[in-house]
Amino acid sequence: MKQYKGKGIEKGIAMGPVFFYEKKEQKQRRPAADSVAELLRFADAKNKARKQLKDLHDHAQRELGLESAAIFEAQQTMLDDEDFNAYVSGVINSEKLSVESAVAAAGEHFAGRFSRMEDPYLKARSTDVKDVSGLLLRILGGGQEEDGPKEPVILVAEELTPSETMRFDRSKLLGIVTYLGSADSHAAILARTMKLPAISGIEIDKKWNGLKAIVDGHSGMLTIDPDKTLTEEMEKQRLADEALEKEMQLLKDRETLTKGGRRIQICANIGGVEDVSEALENGAEGIGLFRSEFLYLKSDGFPSEEEQFAVYKDVLQRMEGKRVVIRTLDLGADKQAAYFRIGREENPAMGYRGIRICLDQPDIFRTQLRAILRASAFGNPVIMFPMIVSMEEFRQCKQHVEEIKAELKEAGIPYKEDVELGVVIETPAAALISGELAKEADYFSVGTNDLTQYTLAADRGNVKLDHVYDPHHPAVLSLIRMTVENGHAAGIPVGVCGELAADTELTRAFLEYGVDELSVIPAYILPLRNEVIHLD
Ligand code: PEP
Ligand code: MG
Repeated sequence: MKQYKGKGIEKGIAMGPVFFYEKKEQKQRRPAADSVAELLRFADAKNKARKQLKDLHDHAQRELGLESAAIFEAQQTMLDDEDFNAYVSGVINSEKLSVESAVAAAGEHFAGRFSRMEDPYLKARSTDVKDVSGLLLRILGGGQEEDGPKEPVILVAEELTPSETMRFDRSKLLGIVTYLGSADSHAAILARTMKLPAISGIEIDKKWNGLKAIVDGHSGMLTIDPDKTLTEEMEKQRLADEALEKEMQLLKDRETLTKGGRRIQICANIGGVEDVSEALENGAEGIGLFRSEFLYLKSDGFPSEEEQFAVYKDVLQRMEGKRVVIRTLDLGADKQAAYFRIGREENPAMGYRGIRICLDQPDIFRTQLRAILRASAFGNPVIMFPMIVSMEEFRQCKQHVEEIKAELKEAGIPYKEDVELGVVIETPAAALISGELAKEADYFSVGTNDLTQYTLAADRGNVKLDHVYDPHHPAVLSLIRMTVENGHAAGIPVGVCGELAADTELTRAFLEYGVDELSVIPAYILPLRNEVIHLD
């Protein structure tokens, strides 16, 4: 028996034989004198790829739903991406190379570019680029596909792209182990949607092929050739997981009431409309944090008012009147968009970011506010402002909202007149002046990720500071408590939306402070509800 520690991507236990999946390498740097013929082959391959992606899209939609299918829609648009196409034709024309060589080079170039990005979402898109170029190369090479497993297996691979993940017959997959692939990669998202226990970060070995293995997605441990004791222990865990899953499902449509009868709202944090189904499937009572910057990070330029309006409207309608807290653009620091150059800063986390950018560049801000206010006619949004450190900033935000409302009224465009305005309490300054802010705001949500980093002067992304970055630190907790007290003194509700909201070790403390709402990623909603209903 041998054990390897990786990172759990999707919880659960899977046991079965290993199927070692190896991609057929298609590296070729072949010269081709007739560039026109190569360009025609490229166009033909793209047409075929489009058709295959459409089939994958329809298959994913039938099996897994709209959100998973959207991955393949996005891949279809990559086929038409101007930069990608220009790169391929450039290599064919100027280097007189074959279309295979050009596609391989373009794939490597753009995948490399994404993989160097800071933002985990964009970083993970590197696999999608590889997926699309791999598909084109397979088509150009005659379309041979790697054989999939014939019996239920644990799939072990260096890396899995979304189309590979989808191409395997779901009924033949028990679990997934990869070396590459972050929790944000699309393949990981698909594994999660398919509820397949998954681990990444394991140095895989071809010799495991056919051997019995256990994937423990809770601890991130892979065991090859497990002994009897471990197998029995893991089987017990698997059955316990199943029982818990059933129990959790019963909580899905229930209100969250403590034993003493106090109502707590458990809401979802989302990054886009594609997360709404997962939020609803997990019994979200509202959206407590819509990180709107993901709209900006996913697009090639600032999304227009119409584009944003369509997304906000869609989310609001799908939430059917439940509260949707839309946080205005929080770019900067760890969230950089390639088209929006902030420039080099000594200290980006304390630099030009969030509301500072919006108040400094009102055109960007007002486009977003107009889109949200127009969408407000279709549901119940709260507009929430990030990175506030002063009354002045919050008043300026309110002023912009009032001006836009007046513009809409004048133009006869409907909007919700009493749309609530909230503040993310994520700087010590905001917590310390929360008494003042509460008199003018309708809602607070504590952003514990940044509140911890600023209170403890410890970069939230620096792994060397893991021991310093302690959200349980009494200084952080007392700022949270102070915020709730000040909010309640002014009669406004207070939520917590940073990662700490999901930390069940603190749920009791949050309830004691009087926190009204906890907003977490969808997968944590039911376990958290289970925790709250067992507390006083
Ligand atoms: C936070 O800072 O806690 C928060 C919720 O926002 P983000 O993680 O997006 O900065
Ligand atoms: Mg924050």
